[in-house]
Formats: sequence, structure tokens, C-alpha cells
Amino acid sequence: MKDFEYVAPVTAEEALSLLSQYKEEAKIIAGGQSMLVVMRQGLLAPEVVVDVKGITALDYMTYDEREGLKIGALTTHRAIETSPLIQKQFRVLSEMERNLATIQTRNWGTIGGNLCHGDPAGDPAPVLIVLGAMLKLRKLTGERIVAMEDFSRDILEVDLEPSEMLIEIQVPPPRPHTGTAHEKLMVMQGDAGIVGVAVSITLKPGNGICEDARIVLSNAASIPLRAKEAERCLAGRAIDGDLLTEAGEVASKEASPPSDVHASEEYRREMIKVFVKRVANKALERAKLEVR
Ligand SMILES: Cc1cc2nc3c(=O)[nH]c(=O)nc-3n(C[C@H](O)[C@H](O)[C@H](O)COP(=O)(O)OP(=O)(O)OC[C@H]3O[C@@H](n4cnc5c(N)ncnc54)[C@H](O)[C@@H]3O)c2cc1C
Repeated sequence: MKDFEYVAPVTAEEALSLLSQYKEEAKIIAGGQSMLVVMRQGLLAPEVVVDVKGITALDYMTYDEREGLKIGALTTHRAIETSPLIQKQFRVLSEMERNLATIQTRNWGTIGGNLCHGDPAGDPAPVLIVLGAMLKLRKLTGERIVAMEDFSRDILEVDLEPSEMLIEIQVPPPRPHTGTAHEKLMVMQGDAGIVGVAVSITLKPGNGICEDARIVLSNAASIPLRAKEAERCLAGRAIDGDLLTEAGEVASKEASPPSDVHASEEYRREMIKVFVKRVANKALERAKLEVR
């Protein structure tokens, strides 16, 4: 690993001022769970490493019925997984975190680091996309809000300027008559998903017709993929087993999954069919009971 200068600001303002000073030469490190891997592999060799882990003001979760959920970028996976607030209001987030990596990685890795790493196999992004999450990004001269859905650009590439920092993840209040679920295909507990699927289903009150469906796949394209054709199969219709099979087949065609040492493209396409059907069915059952 190439030598670098190490700085450890304790406020976001201090960090932003360092990023603005060093620009492309600097790179943020939070939990280091992905950063250290890419630095060891020589894919990144920053001159200055800005360690933001000590900015405790960005480690929080709050919930308000009007504003929804706010998660500070430096909140760890483990804190989200075990939070009674998350378990009550957004059970799907807690379930997703429980299957993410090992407990050691969850204890130190942050939600912000996961999203900014931009791995298309990452678990939080698909769930946050079906929940309609927004990201608050800040630089020294101002802030902007970006939809989670628009944040990923390509493999390990996100919509983030060198002088910007992810500050907060904002999840709107749960929609009524909506159920949400996430599952991924793992060889061993905590493995990165061979494929992952997040689904939310909103039902029209009274008649059980699907008002809105959101389906997002991980490890099925170069970014978390919203399977819009599959969503259209479900919207406006009464969902049954045949329709879920159709949605799975359509999603599998929409995807462009990789072939790698873990699985072939063909196998991933088959698993997308299975998991879209399974997870959409779970979301549907939850919509009937209003479990988010
Ligand atoms: C053994 C292992 C297993 C794993 N399994 C899974 C898995 O099953 N599912 C899954 O989704 N992930 C998995 N991961 C990835 C892991 O979840 C992420 O690496 C971790 O959450 C990243 O968080 P971090 O705080 O360590 O980020 P870091 O590694 O410190 O940073 C990652 C990237 O984000 C940038 N960054 C960090 N914070 C900010 C910020 N606030 N603003 C702007 N940029 C920022 C950094 O510059 C860097 O580019 C695994 C990792 C390991 C090591």
C-alpha cells in the first residue's frame, strides 16, 4: 500500500474543509471495510485519507411520523439491525442488515460507507430504493438531496463529487397498505448475495388490487436495478401465483447479471425468477397485514 497522510476530523465541517482543500487527492474512510480492500488491491491510492469515523454527530437514527426516518451516514449496520425503532417501523431494514456480512463487519462498517462504495451486490441500496429513500450530500458551499435510486452510476461509481460527503439517509414515512420484503441468495449466512431482491407492494384498500409495486435487484446489473417492466406486470392487477411467476420471468429478462466465480449469468437469471416470486409474495402477504 502506498504511503498517505492521515487526518481524523471530529466534525463534518472540518472534514468538508479538508475535502475541499485536497479535492481528488483525498479520500474518506469510515469503517474501512471496503476502503482498505480497494487500497490493498491498488485500485485506489489517495494522498490523504480523511478518517470520518470520529464524527459522532453523524451517528444517529430518528423517526417522526411526518418526516419519516433519518439515519446519520456514520451509523453502523449493527446499530440499524438492532434498533428497536427500526424493528418497529421498518422491519425490512433490520432483516436486511441481519444478513449483511459478519457481525464484525456490521459492528464497524457504516451504512454511508456501504452506499458510497457503490457495489452493485450491496444489500442496503435495493431496500432503500423500494422504500423511496433520499440522500443528503454536503460540501463546504452547500447541500443537495439525491434519490437513492439515482445515486449509483456504474460498478463502484456513485454520484458524489470528491469534495462531497454523504451526511444522512432519509426514508419517508411508511405508505399505508404496503408490505416490504428483502431476501438474497447466500451460500453461507452473511455472504454477499449471488442475487438479491427487494420488493414493496401497495394494495388498494378494500379490493386487494395492487396499486403500486417496486422491485429492485442486486448483483443483477452494474447498478442496483429497478425492474420496471416486472413492476408493471403487477400494478393494477389482483396478484396471484401465476402473475408472480410472470413478474419473475420479466425481471430475469430485464437484468444483465454478471458471470463470475460465484455463479454464471444463466444461474443468476434462474435465481432472479425464483427470488422475485418468493420476495414479492412475502411483500404481498405483509401488505395485507401492513408490515413494512
Ligand atoms: C467480509 C466482508 C463481507 C461483506 N459482506 C457484505 C454483504 O453481505 N452485503 C453488503 O452489502 N456489503 C457487504 N460488505 C461490504 C460492507 O458492508 C461495506 O464495506 C461497509 O458497510 C462499508 O462501510 P465502511 O464504513 O467500512 O466504509 P469504508 O470502507 O470506510 O468506505 C467505503 C467507501 O465509501 C466512501 N465513504 C464512506 N463514508 C462516506 C461518507 N459519509 N461520505 C462519502 N463517502 C464515504 C469511502 O471513501 C469509500 O469509497 C462486506 C465487507 C466485508 C469486509
